[in-house]
Order: sequence, then structure tokens, then C-alpha cells
Amino acid sequence: MRLPWAAPSIRMRLTAWYAVVLTAMMIVYATATFIAVRHEFLEQFDDQLHDEFETAEERLTRTPDGRVTWTGNSHHDPDSDEERVYEVWSADGKQIHRSGASVTLPPVVLASTGSSYRYETVMAGHERWRTLTAPVSIDRHSVVLRVSRSEELLRYQLGEILLVLVLGLPLVVVLAGIGGYVLARRALVPIDQLASEARRITAERLHERLTVTNPNDEIGRLTAVINDAVARLESSFDQLRRFTADASHELRTPLAVVRGIGEAAVAQRRNPAEYEEAIGSLLEEVDRMTSLVDTLLRLSHADAGTIRLSREPVDLGQLAREVTSSLGILAEERNQKLTLDVADGVLVPVDRLVVREAVTNVLDNAIKYSPVGSTVAIQVARRDDQALLAIADEGPGIPVEHRERIFHRFFRVDQARSRDGGGAGLGLAIAKWAVDMHGGQITVDQRPGGGSEFRILLPLAQPVATAGAHKTLQLHVGG
Ligand code: ADP
Repeated sequence: MRLPWAAPSIRMRLTAWYAVVLTAMMIVYATATFIAVRHEFLEQFDDQLHDEFETAEERLTRTPDGRVTWTGNSHHDPDSDEERVYEVWSADGKQIHRSGASVTLPPVVLASTGSSYRYETVMAGHERWRTLTAPVSIDRHSVVLRVSRSEELLRYQLGEILLVLVLGLPLVVVLAGIGGYVLARRALVPIDQLASEARRITAERLHERLTVTNPNDEIGRLTAVINDAVARLESSFDQLRRFTADASHELRTPLAVVRGIGEAAVAQRRNPAEYEEAIGSLLEEVDRMTSLVDTLLRLSHADAGTIRLSREPVDLGQLAREVTSSLGILAEERNQKLTLDVADGVLVPVDRLVVREAVTNVLDNAIKYSPVGSTVAIQVARRDDQALLAIADEGPGIPVEHRERIFHRFFRVDQARSRDGGGAGLGLAIAKWAVDMHGGQITVDQRPGGGSEFRILLPLAQPVATAGAHKTLQLHVGG
């Protein structure tokens, strides 16, 4: 059994992604905010320290005896300030004054004081103190003044901000997760509806379609695609049903004939010649069924796409000659004339056997459906960069409304008329499949004097000129 978290739903995945991305963004945002706030606080702190330094500087005066002293101030008494420390050193390293908090700060290193302001953070016990040290000149008498201020309050405030950010983060993430889940749920509701609607469409209800609420949104487009797929499925199912029904029907007729012949033969005692004739008729029907089953089998292979073409450059004129000579006997039986008008060197990159069968079927029809004593004309030529094979007869022609359908399986213009000739209505379907497979076209037209003309157009083999002094013709065969 699969555990739910081993294959989480899209909803859960969307929510998880949303929460993860949001957490990452919030962490980056909170960190950046904290760094900016901290920087700002520290800068302000140093500015204040500087101001205090200047105020402290004003308190230094020189006594008439030349010493520098610290004088009190009426507004603010730094001596009792627990947050600050004021220290003054003489140039020879003696502490002249110290006031403020009673903490032990590291002594000032006079040598490193230099001539400018020096900010430093030092430790006094466990507390951090910020100090500003600089030389001060009082009436051309140099001393060093250090103002120090405890960072505890500042650190405390920064700590509070950090706490708010850290505690707020999971809260925001949880809220975002809930929001993301609700959003994902709402966004996926139409998909659930689509699924339950699609489940209704079974093989028996392929005519049903899904409802497209908004054809312009993603769900609408998906629904349209599913509807298209169902439509194609429906048409394939219909085709398959028709095909099965037609094939069974076609097989039933010869079977009925076989049964009829057999029953008649055993109904009474007959002489050997009569039995021989009956068996001959039976074999004829068996042959008919065998060829029908073979054709059906090939069509089903064609549908499944399992037939592989082995293309080679084929001289279409030569192929027409071969087919004409092999069907010549049929024409002879009907006292028909077959005429050939063939251009030389019309080469097509095709599977010889497959195209030969297409041409055979069309020529066989022309002989079969034309009157006794008529002429069937076969022509091979180049037409607009294509190879043309035309077969024109003097038969009844094909009514306009049937010119498309004669290429459909089992279609016959006149069921009674065609059955006499032995066809099951599959010859032209096979011919069309064969021509289509080679990227060609097969069409039929009425001839001006009556009769039909079938035209097969196939792509010509591409002559490739090779480099060199003598140009050789090579054939470029695709497939
Ligand atoms: P069939 O095995 O019946 O000949 P085809 O697929 O070869 O089947 O042809 C389909 C139908 O097209 C035929 O039954 C016939 O009615 C019509 N047809 C084909 N070729 C010709 C033609 N040359 N002249 C008149 N009708 C034709």
C-alpha cells in the first residue's frame, strides 16, 4: 500500500511549495531587515556618543595654574549617570578625571589614540560598552577624553526586534500555508469536477462531452483537448464497429455459399463429375475468403502502423508495364485493349510491392468495371515535380457524390453489381493507404467521354548532384 505522503496530492504539493518558498523569502527578508535596523541603531548610537563627547569636551577647562579640570553642569549631572563613563587622561598617561558608572573599563592606550576619533566596543565584565576616544586640546594643552556608554539597552532593543521577527516567522508561515492550501483547493476544484465528469464517459457513452465553462482559461483549454480526444475515440470506435460488422457480413456471404454447395452436394447421390464441380466451387469460395481475410489482416497491420516500408528508387513506368502485363490476361478475357503511354526514368522513392498492389487494384477495377471490348489507357508522366500514374477506362464512371467514399473500406457504388466481380470494397481503401503512406495522393475524375480516370501522384526521387568534374545522378531516398 502506498502511504499518502509517498505520493502527495497536487494540493499538498502546492501548499508545501508555497510554504517552503514563502519561508525562504521571509527568512531572507527578516535577515535583511534585522541587519539594516541593527546598522541604523549602531550608527545612531555612535552619533549620540559623538554628541555626548562634544558636550563633555565643553566641560573641560583650564585652571589658572595650567591644569585641565572637569566642571559640573547644572542641567545634567554626568557624575551620577549609570550608563556612561567620562574619563580624561593627561598626555603623560595619568588619569585626570573619571565620572559616571562604576564599571571597570580597560585603560586607554594613549599611543594608539592618534589624532582622530576612535570608536571601540570593549567589555566591562559581561557588559559591552561603546567608547569614543580622541585627543582634546584645551588652551593648547593636550589631554585625551574618552566617553563610554553601555550598549546594554541597545542590545536589549535589538534582541526584542529579533525575537519579534523570529517568533513572527512561523506564524506568518503557518498562515501562509493555510492560505496556500485554501487557494490550491479552490484552484483545483474544477479539475476534480472535470475528473468526475470525465469518469461518466464510458465506451457506451462516447457521444457525451465535458462542459466547457470558460474556453479561454487553462481548465477550459484542457477540457477542449479532452473533448477532442473523446471525439477521436468515438470516431475510431465507430470505425471499428463498422469495420467489424462489414467484415463479418462479407465473410458470411461466402460461408453461406459454401454451406449451400455442401448441402446440395450431399442432398442426393451424385456422379464423380458433379462432386468434382461442387468441390471446385467450394475451393473458389475458400480462395475468396482467404484473400478477404488476408486483406483484412493487412489493413489491421496498416492501422496498427506495424508495416514498415522498404523504400528504393522505383521506375514508375517499368512498374506500370509489369502490372499491365500481369493483368493482361484479364483484359484479354474481356476482349479489352490496354494501352501504355509511359515516360522514361520517372523514379519514385517507394516500397515497390506496396505501390505495385495499389496500381494493381486500380487497374483491376478499370478492367472489371469497363464493358467488354473497351480500352483502358495507362499513362506515366512527370507533373509539377511529381510523378503521375493515370488509369482511364470507358466504364460507367463514378457519380460525384461517391468519389470520396469509394476509398472507404467496404464501400461499393452498386453492391449487387460489384459482388458479381468478386470485390469486397477494400481494393481502393488499400490503394489509398499505400499512396498516403508514400506522401502521395489518389483521386478519381470523370472523363469527358464517360468512364473514370484514377490519378496517382507520388513525390519524385530527388536527384542529388555530387561534387566533381562529372555530375553523377544519385537518388536520395527517404524513409
Ligand atoms: P471492389 O472490391 O468492390 O472493387 P474497390 O475498393 O476496389 O472495391 O472499389 C470500390 C467501389 O468503387 C467498387 O465497388 C465500384 O463500385 C467502384 N469502382 C472502383 N473502380 C471503378 C471503376 N474503374 N469504374 C467504376 N466504378 C469503380
